[in-house]
Amino acid sequence: MIETQDIQKIIDKYDYTKLSVGTLGSHSSLNIFKGAKEEGLRTVCICREKDAIMYQKYPVVDELIIVKDFTELLSEPLQERLRKLNVILIPHGSFTAYLSTEQLIESLKVPMMGNRKLLQWEANRKSQEEWLRQAGLRLPATFKSPENIDRLVIAKMQGAKGGRGYFLANSSKGFYKRADEMLKRGLITKQDIETVHLQEYVLGVNVYPSYFSSLLNNDVELLAMDRRYETAVDSIGKIPASEQLEIDITPTYSVVGNFPIVLRESLLPDIMRMGEAVHKKAAELAYPGIIGPFCLETVITDDLKIYTFEISARIVAGTNVGIGTSPYAYLRYGENMYMGRRIALELKNAVKQKQLQDIIA
Ligand code: AMP
Repeated sequence: MIETQDIQKIIDKYDYTKLSVGTLGSHSSLNIFKGAKEEGLRTVCICREKDAIMYQKYPVVDELIIVKDFTELLSEPLQERLRKLNVILIPHGSFTAYLSTEQLIESLKVPMMGNRKLLQWEANRKSQEEWLRQAGLRLPATFKSPENIDRLVIAKMQGAKGGRGYFLANSSKGFYKRADEMLKRGLITKQDIETVHLQEYVLGVNVYPSYFSSLLNNDVELLAMDRRYETAVDSIGKIPASEQLEIDITPTYSVVGNFPIVLRESLLPDIMRMGEAVHKKAAELAYPGIIGPFCLETVITDDLKIYTFEISARIVAGTNVGIGTSPYAYLRYGENMYMGRRIALELKNAVKQKQLQDIIA
């Protein structure tokens, strides 16, 4: 386990005049790097050869480090190089997709913006649910076993990337039938079925508000809002119902992009209170709570009830819709503020106020 003191010792040796923002070259890296550049910070990208074209076309990276795969981030020589470059890492979805929670907590000896202790609360669906419930949010019901299914449920695999392998079922019989089909198609494994998470399917529209929790200002800011473009589920409506039945489609939920959303204004107070409550509860569970970006994954029903089915305690790719600006960032900051830049701004202010050690772990 990397102790806070270990990271403090590393940061003590940093040259703050050459502070760099570093991250893996994927997910929301362009957002993060552009924001850092606009705040006058240096940028370091750990990148796979095949993705390097992004940083030739969009010149937002000062130092490009090519790796075979992202697990190289765990190697000591690369970590030493990052420390020499005075890098603060900004975690995003690819960190947890390619590295395990244990690896992130135990083997990453490079300062990271955020609160590593929260990773464990977020990694496990049960503890995540407990966190959100205790914060007073409305959650979909969950079912312990397929035998208990008494309404439409969504079956989720542990650690699924982009909703791959998820399926819907209306009864226990329907569950086993679908699971068998998914197994045969190679979309899930036997172990996936044993560890499946069964959640009430909430009929409504998805809204993903993104917040920034500022330790320096002791405030939670609502900065962006999006919804996802998911293949193949978003294409099903283009096929008439009769054909859908005939070809017996099993929809998947792989995210290919995001759309910006502006929410009906009467829903904003609740969305804001939810962000505050989640951060407040996080501070009780793992002090000092969420540091930096986080996102709630919600469904809003026709009676305007907001259900939260997941939290990401880091920047989500949906904030990319706000690169440049978004209505919510504009309302607070005026022109040209977005999640990547907000992160860099917090780092800069933390240095100015001699509080950098408070927002890294
Ligand atoms: P996730 O990977 O958990 O973000 O879920 C992928 C997609 O499944 C979401 O974007 C939603 O469209 C859908 N989804 C997940 N959970 C629920 C739920 N409880 N009710 C309705 N739709 C859901």
